[in-house]
This record gives sequence, structure tokens and C-alpha cells, in this order.
Amino acid sequence: MKAHDGMYIGGQWRPAAGPDTIAVVNPADEQVIAHVPAGTAEDVDAAVRAAREAFPAWAATPPAERAAGIAALRDVLVARKDEIAETVTAELGAPLALSRTVHAGVPVLVAGSYAELAASYSFEERIGNSTVLLEPVGVVGAITPWNYPLHQVVAKVAPALAAGCTVVLKPAEDTPLTAQLFAEAIHEAGLPAGVFNLVTGLGPVAGQALAAHEGVDLVSFTGSTAVGRQIGATAGAAVKRVALELGGKSANVILPSADLAKAVSVGIANVMSNSGQTCSAWTRMLVHKNQYDEALALAAAAVAKYVPGERVGPLVNAKQQQRVRGYIEKGLAEGARLVAGGPEAPYETGYYVSPTVFADVTWDMTIAQEEIFGPVLSILKYEDEEDALRIANGTVYGLAGAVWAADAAEAVAFARRMDTGQVDINGGRFNPLAPFGGYKQSGVGRELGPHGLSEYLQTKSLQF
Ligand code: NAD
Repeated sequence: MKAHDGMYIGGQWRPAAGPDTIAVVNPADEQVIAHVPAGTAEDVDAAVRAAREAFPAWAATPPAERAAGIAALRDVLVARKDEIAETVTAELGAPLALSRTVHAGVPVLVAGSYAELAASYSFEERIGNSTVLLEPVGVVGAITPWNYPLHQVVAKVAPALAAGCTVVLKPAEDTPLTAQLFAEAIHEAGLPAGVFNLVTGLGPVAGQALAAHEGVDLVSFTGSTAVGRQIGATAGAAVKRVALELGGKSANVILPSADLAKAVSVGIANVMSNSGQTCSAWTRMLVHKNQYDEALALAAAAVAKYVPGERVGPLVNAKQQQRVRGYIEKGLAEGARLVAGGPEAPYETGYYVSPTVFADVTWDMTIAQEEIFGPVLSILKYEDEEDALRIANGTVYGLAGAVWAADAAEAVAFARRMDTGQVDINGGRFNPLAPFGGYKQSGVGRELGPHGLSEYLQTKSLQF
């Protein structure tokens, strides 16, 4: 696609208020592929005004009509899926096969789910002598990261529109082209002017202005815990609603009765997918002491298939590459042992990191506590189930996880004791309707399905 040099506000592309731009870089070859405008507080203000103006009519639009608008959006995403996949590959670096199936495919599922939910959801309920109206919260300020550039946008915009809210989006500075393509899709789908608005720009400038804007009723943020904390404080001071989808350090718990080979190979695939840039990735594999050596051998064989530049793409930018290599060095310095990979970059060009597996990791090491956001797995040894539970729950995060056992009931019994928002049982499939979000410092609020929709609604009770 061709980059736009303006902002999408009030149903049209308008010139940016300031002259600054952001260079978009292809992380596979480090070439600048486009420039987009770096928005200012002035652009954010114009976008919020457009969203406010559009809100009353959109909120009053019957849910079936809102559903039709979201269905039309889904159809455009389907029609333009090849272009979406190519754009994500160009600015994120994901292998094209992953961009096609996941980056372009999942948003179609999620948009489709909200087209159905908008039509079927009950925006009114009876409780005793009351009728409770579920009304849209208002103008949403959405701030998204680069790791799933379209999914993160659709997971906010589709439920917000289904609820009757209007939106201003500030996407990540590394992946603005996918966001511009999404704005084109909104336009092509014929959604009313102002219900969706896009301001590209830097986090501390445009993102901060959006989070703090008094015309925004709800801030929905996905990104790092550090920035989330700041946004939560800003929203709290203004008594504004906030949803935070933050980092994770999820545990993949392999109980002794499990199919070890399958659990290890799915566990490796989970961490290497999207170059490890997945907030819900199972970056700690927990294995019983009697099966530890066997698991290490299986892991070494499985990770060898993940060749950088083929199945594994680069990291998104040079800073992330340096950060992840720094964590690998820290792991070695703290006494962990390399089973595969290491801190050296595999190629001179492109922000690649070698798929890395660590053994002899203890729960308190930095690499077992902090989110790395790269293709790095730590394998930890546990003594018994209580020890496994203590390790699994022993971080500040609680976003996702996995449990493997001979039968589902045994795995479920363990999963019930995990402090985390999502658990895959014996490799369970992705469900676009299941609530997604964190316990503890992984966040506040839920996305996807009916739980995700309810984040954008507020209640009004009428007593009779
Ligand atoms: P980030 O927090 O740096 O940036 C996320 C977004 O916030 C970007 O759009 C950025 O421009 C904006 N931003 C940055 N500073 C801001 C500020 N002061 N005020 C307002 N907005 C600001 O995160 P990142 O590096 O882009 O993404 C990686 C992180 O996101 C990881 O920690 C990862 O776990 C997390 N993440 C979480 C989820 C989830 O659903 N829980 C999903 C994806 C990523």
C-alpha cells in the first residue's frame, strides 16, 4: 500500500498539524519503506472532536445496523487480506505465511465475531423491578502496540463500535502502515464519518495527549507495563475508565503424566511464533526433575527447525534486538546454561536474534522473572506439583499459561490454582470469543467476545 501523509479524521484524510514525520523501517533489511506524519496534541484534539461529534448518532444507531457496518468491515478485511499480510511483513518482519494466517486471518475472525455479537447482544436486561440499559461509554482512546498490529486494533475498535462508542486510535510508531490500511478499510466499509479516527505519532506525544484528553471517556491501552502504569495514573486522576492489556511471563506446566514430546514441541512453537513477540507466550517451561534431561534433548531438536530468516522473522527494531540480546547475556551471567542459540546475532543485516533455549534456570533469575519479548525460552525443573505451582505463580504477571497432563481433568485441577487469565489445556485451540486479559500486573479488563464488548458499556437502571 501507499503511505498516507495525513491523519484519518472525520471520514477523510486531513493534513497533519505539524511537519514532523516517522520513518517506517523494514526490520528484515533495515531499509526505510515509508514515512508517516508524527501527530501532535493538535491532531489528537481534532480527532477527539470528530469522535465526539459522531458519538450521539452512532450510539443511537440500532445494534443491527452497527452489526451490518462491522460485517462490511470484515468483508473488506477479507478482500484485502493479501495486502494486509504484505504490509505486516514489510513493517513488522513476520514471515509471510504467519502474516497470512495470523496477522491477516485473526482480525477477520474477531471482526466477524463482533458483527454477530452486535446483532445478538442484549443491550437491556430486567432485574426485579428494574430495567437495566447497557449504554455505550462514549469516546474511546485506543493505544496499540506493534506485535500484532492489526489484531490489537481490531480487538479494540470492533467491540467499541459494536457497543455504540466512537474511537480515536493511536497505533504503535513501528507499524503505522497497517493502521492506515485499517482506516482505509473502515472508509471502504462505509462506516459513518467520525466513528473511527486515526492519529499516527509517538507514544509520549500523541499517545500521552490522547490518554489525557478530557474528551476521551475510556482509554484502552495494550503495551508495556511501564507505560500502562502511567496511563492508568493519568486516567485515574481524571476519573476516566481504563483498560490495560500489559505484559506477561506465562508458564507452560508439563505434568509427569503428559505426552512430553508433544508438550515440548508445541511449547517451542508457541515461544518462537512471531519471533517471541507475543505477550501471552509461554516463555517458562516447567518440567518434572525426572523428565528434565529428556525434555532438554527434545527442546534442542525442536528448536533447530526454527531458522532465522525462514520460520523466524527478525525483531521489530534495533532497540528490541539489543534488549533481547542483553537478556540472553544476563541469563548466562546469572548461571543459566544454553541449550540452543545465544547472544550473537545470526546475521549482520536485519534485527534477528538466534532462537534461544536456556536450561538450569531457577525461578528467581532475571530471565525467569522479566518479560523478554524475543525468541527465548527458559526451561525450569520442579520437584513436585506444589513446587510447580509456586514457580508458575511466582512472577508479577498473570496473562496466560498452559498445562499438559494425561487427562484433561488433572490439567484443569492444576489450572484452577494458577493466577492467570487464560490457560490452554493440552494444547487447546485459540477461541476468538474467550475473554483475554491479565491477573496481577498483566492488566485490568478483558478483550474479545462478550466480555470484551461489556468493557465499552455502562449501565443505567430504571426502576418501575
Ligand atoms: P509500549 O508500551 O512502549 O507501547 C505501546 C503503545 O503505547 C504504543 O502505541 C506507544 O506509542 C504508546 N506509548 C508509549 N509511551 C506512551 C505514553 N507515555 N503515553 C501514551 N502512550 C504511549 O509497548 P511496546 O514496546 O509497543 O509493546 C510491547 C509490550 O506490549 C510488551 O510488554 C507486551 O507484553 C505488551 N503487550 C501486551 C499485550 C496484551 O494483550 N496484554 C499485547 C501485546 C503487547
